[in-house]
Amino acid sequence: MSSGVHSISRKVTGMIIGVSTLLALVTMLIQFVWNYLGAVDNAKAEIRGYSELILPSIAQALWDADRPLLNDLVLAVSRLPAVSFVELASLDGFTVRSGHAASSAQTNPNAGIEMPVLFEPQPIARLRVVLSNSEIYRMLWQQMVFLVLGNGIKTLVMAFVILSLLKHLVIRRLARLSAFANTVRLANGERINKPFWPANEQDEIGSVGRALEAMYHRLRSDLALIRLQQRQLARRGRALSHTVAAQDSQLTWLASANSLLAQVSLQFLAASSADASEELNHFTRELGALLGVERVSVLEFQQGKARYRSFWSSNDSDTPASELVIDNLPLLKQKFGQSHTLVIEDIENLKDPSSLEYRYMKQVGIVSVAGFAIADGDTLLGVLSVANRQGPLNWSPEKTHILTQFASALNELWLRERHEARMFELQQELLRANMHLAREAVTDPLTGLTNRRPFTERLSTQLEQGGVLLMADVDFFKGYNDTYGHVAGDDVLKKLAQALQTLLPDDALLARIGGEEFALIAPVMSESELEALCDRLLQYVRNLGIEHRGSHFGIVTLSLGAITLDDSCNIRDALSQADASLYRAKQLGRNLAVINGDVSPKARLISSS
Ligand code: GH3
Ligand code: MG
Ligand code: MG
Repeated sequence: MSSGVHSISRKVTGMIIGVSTLLALVTMLIQFVWNYLGAVDNAKAEIRGYSELILPSIAQALWDADRPLLNDLVLAVSRLPAVSFVELASLDGFTVRSGHAASSAQTNPNAGIEMPVLFEPQPIARLRVVLSNSEIYRMLWQQMVFLVLGNGIKTLVMAFVILSLLKHLVIRRLARLSAFANTVRLANGERINKPFWPANEQDEIGSVGRALEAMYHRLRSDLALIRLQQRQLARRGRALSHTVAAQDSQLTWLASANSLLAQVSLQFLAASSADASEELNHFTRELGALLGVERVSVLEFQQGKARYRSFWSSNDSDTPASELVIDNLPLLKQKFGQSHTLVIEDIENLKDPSSLEYRYMKQVGIVSVAGFAIADGDTLLGVLSVANRQGPLNWSPEKTHILTQFASALNELWLRERHEARMFELQQELLRANMHLAREAVTDPLTGLTNRRPFTERLSTQLEQGGVLLMADVDFFKGYNDTYGHVAGDDVLKKLAQALQTLLPDDALLARIGGEEFALIAPVMSESELEALCDRLLQYVRNLGIEHRGSHFGIVTLSLGAITLDDSCNIRDALSQADASLYRAKQLGRNLAVINGDVSPKARLISSS
């Protein structure tokens, strides 16, 4: 039993005994007062009854003045129970007393009786009887012993009965209730399934027990609900912290990815075409590390073939496949025709296991792949792809987003590369055109010889260094045109140019400086060498044997005018001197050479036979 119930039991027991005792005492007190008053009334009634019996005798004795009788009669009254003092006083002053006058002081003043003594029927005396309180109390005491005993026993029995009932009906059940309340441990999670309080106890304690049981079950279910909510909260907390951690790592990943993207874009922008390949290799390596994949490759499609522009693998012994023919990859083409993104988490999920792509991936051991089109509008330029050989890529929309942007950066790079290549080609074309124009500007279109301008420049140089200048003119060429036509004339000019070209000494320059006029500049040579050269030229042309009916010679011939150059003359002088020599050769009959003309005293005529 708990100390609480003990305390109640003690208090209730004390209260019951206290109240019972008090009630017993009050009852006894009332009983005492009641008995006292009753005893006084009984004593008075007895005195009155007895007195009424003896009052006529007292009146006769007074009349007779029978003193002894009076004494006896008064004594008889005084011996009545509870009478302490009796006084008979006659009107004429005669008095008889009996009892203890001293005790009359202790008597109850209300407990006195006075009665007149009548004789025919005049009052002749007064009889005063005083009751004795001590006697009354003694009588009461005798009664009170039984009263106290009776009330005490009754009180004890009542208290015992009440306490027994209390103990049986209340205290024990309260103790049981208390014991149950003490056994309830919500914290340890034990469940009490069976009812622990009799349902048939329809009194207050029964309803308190059932209420306690119901409260226990309510608390259990509330506690279970709270625990469930706590578990859910903990689960949500864990899920939330997982989500936060995942988002945090995703944000970190995205930041790294964006940083790499920015870095790559900048490097691609800054890199020259030659550096781009190095940057691309760096980029594939970084991308592989960022995505945690095993292979990264950049394929470029050109002229129906897929060429690896860059390839990175976590395994150093891994090498890219040889060149792929795009037409052999129909699935890839078809997929990229629909979307610019292709993610295959498991190649076994491919619908067509007989496809070339499937066989290729099986061959190189790829199990999971993601590819992103590098496209310029609808034109597929290449593919950026990442792949795993060991397990799935665990792809996500964020990775798709980033890879799409990388593919876009590659597209930009390639567009720039292609643009640069086109620009380079245009520049080359321009250069070629310029060179052609420059060559044309200095080249005679008919014969392919240099024209007058480079000839004049070379002459200027040669004048400083010394050398020879030789001018040749076709004889009677106007007549040739007239006879054979202008086109045939052109052919003759070409043949002559080729012939003269074959005979040129080292470092000599042959130019066509007029319609059918050629000029030759050569480094320093002796006059005999110059003479031999002129002779060879004339002879060679003659040997060509080109028919010319309009010529005295019947064939096409040349006339030559040659001079030795020195730094004392200028271009103009040199040209006019050579021209003069040529003119002289014409004058002298043609098909001959004039060397150093009339300028030089050594000038002489070489004529052919
Ligand atoms: P000569 O012997 O005095 O030099 O007599 P020539 O008829 O050759 O007279 P000249 O040198 O004055 O005449 C040049 C002629 O060459 C005139 C023209 O018909 C011809 N000719 C000039 N340029 C060309 C050319 O490019 N093609 C052809 N077919 N004929 C040319
Ligand atoms: Mg001429
Ligand atoms: Mg001529």
